[in-house]
Amino acid sequence: MDKPNFYRAKLKAYEILIKQQSFSFPIDPRKLKLDSYNFVIISLQEYSQITNIPLEKLTSNGSFNDGYTYFNNNTAYIFYNNDIETEGRKMWTISHEIGHIVLEHTTQCEKNEQEANFFASQILAPQCVLKQLIKNGAKVTSNYLSSKFKISKEASENCINTLSKVIDNEKIVTEYDDIIISLFNPYIFRDYSLDLYFDELENRRKTFY
Ligand SMILES: [Zn+2]
Repeated sequence: MDKPNFYRAKLKAYEILIKQQSFSFPIDPRKLKLDSYNFVIISLQEYSQITNIPLEKLTSNGSFNDGYTYFNNNTAYIFYNNDIETEGRKMWTISHEIGHIVLEHTTQCEKNEQEANFFASQILAPQCVLKQLIKNGAKVTSNYLSSKFKISKEASENCINTLSKVIDNEKIVTEYDDIIISLFNPYIFRDYSLDLYFDELENRRKTFY
């Protein structure tokens, strides 16, 4: 198997984040500005209602349950299943599909799946932001990630795994890391100060009792 190019996946994700207008979390991939591509992001349920195509046909009787991409006339249609249990999993599916498109994947293989997953993690919970939060003293746990970044428990655990594996791997630091950190800095700062404030309140409450 060819090695996945995580650096490129991260670079593409950050290129997209830099072009947005607001810089806070959670990120809704349905609202991303993706000006170099023609995208239609729509739920299978809504598409079924508009076109009268039965839902079972759109999911091939359940074999495409989470979502998939379909190309037509230079437009990429990203379909996602609105019935998926958590919002976090939906957002991950959409980001994963966007990843396949911007990374110009043409085949389905393990390498491409890993790259699309890494792209999704870098769009929804950018590694450099997590690193900065840790530097500031935040305890980045999977609960923390799923509540602040609205990603599923499973995705949170994956993010933490990759974070600990590549946190000191300079090869994966892109030229955009510093820009991303400065764009999201007001969020990082505000969020972290609030957490400290609540910790402090909680401690006082404990001492009081
Ligand atoms: Zn995929």
